[in-house]
Amino acid sequence: MSQRPIYDVCVVGSGAGGGIAAYALTKAGANVVLLEAGRNWDVIKDSAMLKWPYQSPRRGASTRERPFGEFDGCIGGWEIDGEPYTRAPGTNFSWWRARQVGGRTVHWGRISLRFGPDDFRGKSRDGLGDDWPIGYDDIKPYYDDLDRLVGLFGSNEGLPNHPDGIFMPPPKPRCWELVVKQAADKHKVTCIPSRLSIITKPLGNRAPCHYCGQCNRGCMTNSNFSSVGVLIPPAMATGRLTLLTEAMAREVTLNKDGTASGVSYVNKRTGTDEHVRARIVVLAASACETARLLLNSKSSQFPQGLANSSGAAGKYITDTTGTDVGAFIPKLMDRPPHNDDGVGGAHLYMPWWLDNAKLDFPRGYHIEIWGGGGVPSAGFMGGIQNYPEGGGYGAELKQQYRKYYGASVGFSGRGEMIPNDDTYCEIDPSVVDRWGIPVLRFHWKWTDHELNQVKHMQETFRTLLKEMGGEPRSPMPTKEQGYGIAAGGVIIHELGGARMGKDPKTNVLNEWCQAHDVKNLFATDGAPFVSQADKNPTWTIMALAMRTCAHIADLRSKREL
Ligand SMILES: Cc1cc2nc3c(=O)[nH]c(=O)nc-3n(C[C@H](O)[C@H](O)[C@H](O)COP(=O)(O)OP(=O)(O)OC[C@H]3O[C@@H](n4cnc5c(N)ncnc54)[C@H](O)[C@@H]3O)c2cc1C
Ligand code: SF4
Repeated sequence: MSQRPIYDVCVVGSGAGGGIAAYALTKAGANVVLLEAGRNWDVIKDSAMLKWPYQSPRRGASTRERPFGEFDGCIGGWEIDGEPYTRAPGTNFSWWRARQVGGRTVHWGRISLRFGPDDFRGKSRDGLGDDWPIGYDDIKPYYDDLDRLVGLFGSNEGLPNHPDGIFMPPPKPRCWELVVKQAADKHKVTCIPSRLSIITKPLGNRAPCHYCGQCNRGCMTNSNFSSVGVLIPPAMATGRLTLLTEAMAREVTLNKDGTASGVSYVNKRTGTDEHVRARIVVLAASACETARLLLNSKSSQFPQGLANSSGAAGKYITDTTGTDVGAFIPKLMDRPPHNDDGVGGAHLYMPWWLDNAKLDFPRGYHIEIWGGGGVPSAGFMGGIQNYPEGGGYGAELKQQYRKYYGASVGFSGRGEMIPNDDTYCEIDPSVVDRWGIPVLRFHWKWTDHELNQVKHMQETFRTLLKEMGGEPRSPMPTKEQGYGIAAGGVIIHELGGARMGKDPKTNVLNEWCQAHDVKNLFATDGAPFVSQADKNPTWTIMALAMRTCAHIADLRSKREL
């Protein structure tokens, strides 16, 4: 009878964190099996990058498995058939899950910011939340490696708590972005070139961006970062990666000594239960799913869930705060037709620029900007009735579209939430998914820290839009309306759920993202995060994953794992 193989490592999930784990560990000589709940994604065949909007049979409308439109690169969404999650009474939370090789990185926004030194020591600065067990200097070498490996553009600015990186040249701002910059300069809001993981020079066998602006559809030329385009192929080329798609991990299994023995999973093609054996298990199924796997892996050794002697699994989850305001800017209308294309995303943004000592909320936020022209999509401009002449028929309608197209600008704030005791996930006692796996129940609460921050965002955006000559499209939201704060999960930056920290009594993972209770169990997604920052998290997820994998490789070379 043939023995099933024992892999050196089983990685669960192939998104940002799992892609790095598969890449770094195979390169370090490990035989890795990668379990991915979704199906394969072929970067060339499956991307709609080169399609015209009019080629969409649904005029760009969403489908059940592509809620951001049928040309969008992400298979998954807020709701997935047969894979529910529940909300405690009073909770407003939505959970975006990708189901494909590459996870959410196939259509993410590519904003790639390093956390700064202050972001690792929040509690020491203002007494809120907790400090990380590591500091910026611990992670900096891995950010540098990541910059070189994956590539991003940006500019070195020397700003406080906003570390520079190893950047490719950024694209120039477009006309509408220069108008934004003028207003920002006037109000002393720092406005600098974006930092996006899009390459503007060749890198290895990857071509530079050709500025089609369709990144969310998945890039056929691998000019932006996706795990499936940039990390999985070189991992495969080592000959040491076994990729199992449509493999939904159910739980981590144990040896008699309480170490992980592998992962049991549902083969979604056949509906059967299967198992892979591995000497090391790395969870990277996305922050909340990693918490779910731990909580569902109950045993006599770990009755509260695997590696959960602290009771912290599922706790300290956060999302980025967010709110948006847009306006029609009359001075941008009636421009001579010109090419407004660029990368898929803004060429400028505004990092946090203020001192909290003078504000009524802790931490900060950054501002993402949107507007301008580019290839019009179906439903573009949000309806001509919202513009001064209000629409018409035939030639008049066309003339109005030409006049007003590209004359809208908007701002989105993205800020730091402080973890709180009322925001967590747990296993729902009565609901299971289509394979009988217990699902997560979410509890979510914003506090005044977040609400005051979002109020400040709204006020700032309105000041800037007025400076540009625009009238905000919506009235200032009231306190009762939460100042327009997006619901938990909606910004899709969930972090935490298996927090890292030195004390095993209050943390799931140690400073190497290794479980305190189970020495051959690690996490490389957003689950180990102690806090958010005023930056998007994925560059830090990946740098931290590189650091964790370097540690795993080190322990393997010393035969300690
Ligand atoms: C529209 C959008 C825009 C975004 N923009 C930005 C941005 O500009 N900058 C930024 O920093 N972040 C951005 N993000 C967030 C970013 O995508 C995530 O932070 C990042 O992908 C998280 O990486 P991950 O590896 O934890 O999870 P994912 O990338 O989601 O990967 C998790 C993988 O695990 C698989 N999986 C889940 N459960 C199981 C299971 N039980 N068994 C096996 N496999 C499983 C999933 O199918 C998925 O492939 C954006 C997200 C979205 C959706
Ligand atoms: S804008 Fe650049 S990176 Fe984005 S899809 Fe087009 S070529 Fe690729």
